Amino acid sequence: MRVHAYAAPAAAEPLVPTVIERRDVGPGDVLIEIKYAGVCHSDIHTVNGDWGPQPYPLVPGHEIVGVVTQVGAAVTRHRVGDRVGVGCMVGSCGRCANCRNGDEQYCLEGMVPTYAGTDRDGTTTQGGYSTHVVVDAGFVLSVPEGIDLAAAAPLLCAGITTYSPLRRWGAGPGKKVAVVGLGGLGHLAVKIAHAMGAEVTVLSQSLKKQEDGLRLGADHYHATGDPGTFARLAGRFDLIVNTVSAGIDVDAYLGLLALDGTLVNVGAPAEPLSLNVFSLIGARRSYAGSMIGGIAETQEMLDFCAAHGIGADIELIPADRINEAYGRVLASDVRYRFVIDTATLG
Ligand code: NAP
Ligand code: ZN
Repeated sequence: MRVHAYAAPAAAEPLVPTVIERRDVGPGDVLIEIKYAGVCHSDIHTVNGDWGPQPYPLVPGHEIVGVVTQVGAAVTRHRVGDRVGVGCMVGSCGRCANCRNGDEQYCLEGMVPTYAGTDRDGTTTQGGYSTHVVVDAGFVLSVPEGIDLAAAAPLLCAGITTYSPLRRWGAGPGKKVAVVGLGGLGHLAVKIAHAMGAEVTVLSQSLKKQEDGLRLGADHYHATGDPGTFARLAGRFDLIVNTVSAGIDVDAYLGLLALDGTLVNVGAPAEPLSLNVFSLIGARRSYAGSMIGGIAETQEMLDFCAAHGIGADIELIPADRINEAYGRVLASDVRYRFVIDTATLG
């Protein structure tokens, strides 16, 4: 099946319209007519080669929602007409300890990323900036009624990437949680942590988005560009979720943690970060990382968001504005997730 898409022809080059091939629907596969695709900063890191060499031409997009238009003979969990989503992975071995534990994203043989990965048949996976995709039914999520489909798209990556560490590190009543960076991940982290019952603080470069942050559910908002912030908030938080796409001063943020507090990095900058171990040992603090979430946990997140009326705040764009959107994300000028209307893909 030949379908319309947008692809990066080479590292750091603007995306251009193209046509790609999707595989035939196998017995365990689902064919999805994509309605919306979110634009994640990871798409930009990947296209720009921040994380190393990539297979070009590359169709990004791992925040996919749409409607099932065909299912393979062996598929029982999805039906034609269902509202579904696909996130950052489309395959894993299914046999290793991590897969069996529901941590497919940490598959010991390597999960298959939704784009720029090698699929089971040896072909290169191509992502969601496209009109259709064929995916193993085990990696297809149900999007509950009650969440607007376009606003649901960013949940498939930004939503689960923040939900998973918030759950794991116990965000909830009585917990002080800080979110660093109010972008795509950050704004969903604020909504989700607030819905979990935590006391939420936004740490943003400036106070430009303060009104938005408080509307999204934050109790407090501080500018990290003001050095006084780090003195005032020292030892305050139980959990800090860092969503910044660039390097940060890790020691400065560790200093904001209370005894036994944890700083979780979900931001994935190209350059290494360093820290002084005394920032950890002086208050039994932890510095951790987390990558998306497993399939069952992603479904749990979607159901949680539906129950709490959470979707992303989006700017819906036609596909031909994708390069402009990339520029605005890089300039921290996103309010708060760009989503491509795939009906504009021609
Ligand atoms: P985004 O929408 O661009 O948000 C990042 C935010 O970080 C910006 O809005 C900005 O917020 C802040 N920021 C940007 N540059 C900064 C700088 N130089 N110094 C300080 N703050 C800065 O990006 P996103 O889509 O949320 O993704 C964020 C990061 O998470 C990316 O690195 C992405 O690759 C990574 N990611 C990781 C996973 C995972 O599984 N771990 C999953 C998805 C994405 P303020 O203006 O409020 O300061
Ligand atoms: Zn992403």
